[in-house]
Amino acid sequence: STPNVWNFGPGPAKIPTSVLQRAQDELLNYNNTGMSVMELSHRSKEYENLNNKAQRDLRTLLNIPNNYKILFMQGGGHTQFSAIVYNLLSAKRHQLGEDFKEEFNPPLDYLITGSWSSKAAEEAKKLYNNVNIVFDVKKLKGSYGSIPPKEEWKLSGSKAAYVYYCDNETVNGVEFNHIPEIDPSVPLVCDMSSNILSRRFDVSKFGIIYAGAQKNIGAAGLTVVIVREDLLIRSNNKNSDIPAIPSMLDYKIMADHNSLYNTPPMFSIYISGLVFEWLLGLGGIEAIEKTNSTKAERLYEVIDNSKIYKSPVEKSVRSRMNVPFRIKQEELESEFLKGSIELGMLQLKGHRSVGGIRASIYNAMTLEGVDFLIEYMKEFERKHC
Ligand code: PMP
Repeated sequence: STPNVWNFGPGPAKIPTSVLQRAQDELLNYNNTGMSVMELSHRSKEYENLNNKAQRDLRTLLNIPNNYKILFMQGGGHTQFSAIVYNLLSAKRHQLGEDFKEEFNPPLDYLITGSWSSKAAEEAKKLYNNVNIVFDVKKLKGSYGSIPPKEEWKLSGSKAAYVYYCDNETVNGVEFNHIPEIDPSVPLVCDMSSNILSRRFDVSKFGIIYAGAQKNIGAAGLTVVIVREDLLIRSNNKNSDIPAIPSMLDYKIMADHNSLYNTPPMFSIYISGLVFEWLLGLGGIEAIEKTNSTKAERLYEVIDNSKIYKSPVEKSVRSRMNVPFRIKQEELESEFLKGSIELGMLQLKGHRSVGGIRASIYNAMTLEGVDFLIEYMKEFERKHC
């Protein structure tokens, strides 16, 4: 976005201005090759270096242990909804061993805290007949906006092939404030599409973490997958009780080829690499985490101290990245949105499935941008109180 616009979009989202400017500078001539990144061969030395550097920087930023592989995949979050089912059924089959003679039908455990985890579970059900809903907040409470206490979770224990959850529900503004405790023999799978790189967390607690790039990483087209090495199992077509993994979804194939099995989305990976460098330059995740907390605290404070705004999310699970809110007199929302656009604050409209207003304040959104929105909210309230 240009400097006179504040982009509060949920994804594709704002990319740091300095990253866009650097991409502009290098657009015609990447690293003195005389070509744009988009025109290089994906088998060239230049591209290999770019690919490896982006992985190294991401490993540094997230402190990713050596027994995890970083994969650059395609197809967005939606493709991971099914990739996970294939790969982790295969891993579970392998874990049980050749001697396992019972029917192979391990449960897949899903925690449903919002529309994205719900969609992931629906996709799993298309592929497999034993999906266990550990809880579904909408079914329990009528709408999303909270996470039930652990005592109410119906986990399958060590039988499960994995436990799946979404760390930050982009549409509903619900974010976990801790990593769920599960049976340590079961891989924990996490969709971090909308909050990866926003705070520190312990990668070693997870089997798989994935994130579409178009929020906190870079440009759409790339999906980052971080996978523990013991889960990389060669797909075995001979074993009739598990489905063979389509090659483009096969984590082991991607890992064996250093994410160069087929032509990768080179420009998206390049932009992501620039974002990683930008983050390292700011002081890494610790630095951005502080700013992110301040941004979210300021915004929720205005909502909570207001007579006209309200948050649909319980305090303990409010997202630091996507802040949905309503105006109590709902008919004022369109006026609010119209006025915000006139002042250059774009994409504040809530997701079409829930309505209302949503401010997405990812890493690239500055404190200044959030303060600008807050001033507008206060002004709007003064006018309508
Ligand atoms: N998971 C989350 C948390 C998301 O926010 C989104 C997209 N907004 C998706 C998954 C789906 O991603 P994609 O559009 O890349 O398939």
